[in-house]
Amino acid sequence: MGIEAYDVVIIGAGPSGIGAATVLAEYSLKILLIDENNQIGGQIWRKPAYQPVSRFRGHQPPTRQPMDLSTGIGTDKNNLHITTPSCVLGVFPDKHLLLSTSDQGVREIKARSIIFATGAREKVLPFKGWTLPGVMTLGAAQILLKQYGVLASSEILISGAGPLAYLLSSQIIGAGGKVTTVLDRSSLATMLNAVWVMAGQLPKIGEGLLALGRLIKKRVSVKHRMQVVEVKGKDKLQEVIAVRIASDGTAVDGSQQRYETQMLACGNGFVPNIELPQLTGCDLIYAVDKGGWIVKTDRSMETSVSGVFAAGEITGIAGSDKSLIEGRLAALSILNQFGKLNSKKYRIRRAALLNKRKHCQRFGAFLNRQWAIHPREWAGIDDAAIICRCEDITMGTIRGWIKKGIRSAPDLKRATRCGMGICQGRTCAPLIYEILAACSVAGKQEPHPLSVRTPVKPIPLGDLARL
Ligand SMILES: Cc1cc2nc3c(=O)[nH]c(=O)nc-3n(C[C@H](O)[C@H](O)[C@H](O)COP(=O)(O)OP(=O)(O)OC[C@H]3O[C@@H](n4cnc5c(N)ncnc54)[C@H](O)[C@@H]3O)c2cc1C
Repeated sequence: MGIEAYDVVIIGAGPSGIGAATVLAEYSLKILLIDENNQIGGQIWRKPAYQPVSRFRGHQPPTRQPMDLSTGIGTDKNNLHITTPSCVLGVFPDKHLLLSTSDQGVREIKARSIIFATGAREKVLPFKGWTLPGVMTLGAAQILLKQYGVLASSEILISGAGPLAYLLSSQIIGAGGKVTTVLDRSSLATMLNAVWVMAGQLPKIGEGLLALGRLIKKRVSVKHRMQVVEVKGKDKLQEVIAVRIASDGTAVDGSQQRYETQMLACGNGFVPNIELPQLTGCDLIYAVDKGGWIVKTDRSMETSVSGVFAAGEITGIAGSDKSLIEGRLAALSILNQFGKLNSKKYRIRRAALLNKRKHCQRFGAFLNRQWAIHPREWAGIDDAAIICRCEDITMGTIRGWIKKGIRSAPDLKRATRCGMGICQGRTCAPLIYEILAACSVAGKQEPHPLSVRTPVKPIPLGDLARL
């Protein structure tokens, strides 16, 4: 198959990608919207893979989505092509892409403009035993429920920080499951502050109150400033051990609590999926209040590579409203560059969107600070805790190499193989940056994230061979 050409290729069909596609599709441009999931919608508008029975209907995507996802966007617009499940394996600075599709193997695409809208993934503060069956991330439990209508277990213990822990608890209760306890890493005061920061975002306050209401009604015990430090079990989870974390990041003496459970869902915020923009040569910056390494853009959402845009969680974790706004901003900028939107109209629409984005960014900065792991918390992690799950590299091994003088992520990778497994460092790399920063005298971050190469995600060898 030859190289296919498009005016705009959008990678990721969550709120940011869909936001961009809906604006662009109104103009005579040839657009390709790609997502590796079976259906478009991203993390928040994830659609069930089947028609759920009535008791699971509460988990349908929220109604605030801007279009009917059940019919697919743009089905009436023959200039918008949607390909799912298709994974982008690599993007090169000349805007040439490699795409792995389920039906046509690897395809080559050329674009005049690209929008990266690849979203975020979860981050977990590791603890001893976290690879035991029965331990999963908050997102994994949510995907089971939203996409497949399956409760991870009839009883579940939730641990984490931020809205997803409460949202998931509420969704589990709504589906007839039981949440035994919520261990919230943040303080009660932080939760109250959140209401203040969310002022102006009434639907979010409403969602939060609904979740809290369900927890109160079911008398779910919520414990603040608690962090899981170990889980135990022979072949599967049986016991969770948590401690109270003081504001200086140390464990409070005598605060240890034990919980018997067969299922734990845990998470400590999100990490932007920056690998593809990084591969393309886009400048990245590190910002704690935006979730770590993010893609640098200007006000038009253009990256340092001309004609390449980034929108949504990859420019700073702040939730779906910001993602939708930034997708639209990127689309307007492309229309302006292509001469389809005059400069005056562009400036007016851009200013309105930038203004709305400010509120979301404020909320995002608050969340990211709340999730941030205190440098001292890394000192409390047991030597036996696995950090790189693919290569089984423990905290003890990493500490040993740091004692021997290793100070950078690439050196640690070469010494231990951490980050070289099948996930290509997606899980452990953000943890390693923080461990190294916590060990450096000035708490300094790595100057660059670990390098990435094509293919950014594993593919069958046969697909490559057929290219
Ligand atoms: C597990 C998880 C669960 C979440 N649940 C909620 C929730 O319930 N409520 C809420 O308000 N917020 C939730 N969030 C936060 C969420 O990230 C945002 O609210 C919103 O979905 C962000 O929109 P986005 O478009 O930036 O990214 P996303 O919605 O994450 O969309 C990015 C899309 O890019 C695709 N993609 C990534 N890489 C590739 C590739 N190489 N090739 C092809 N496609 C690719 C992904 O499949 C994904 O569909 C969740 C986040 C995570 C990580």
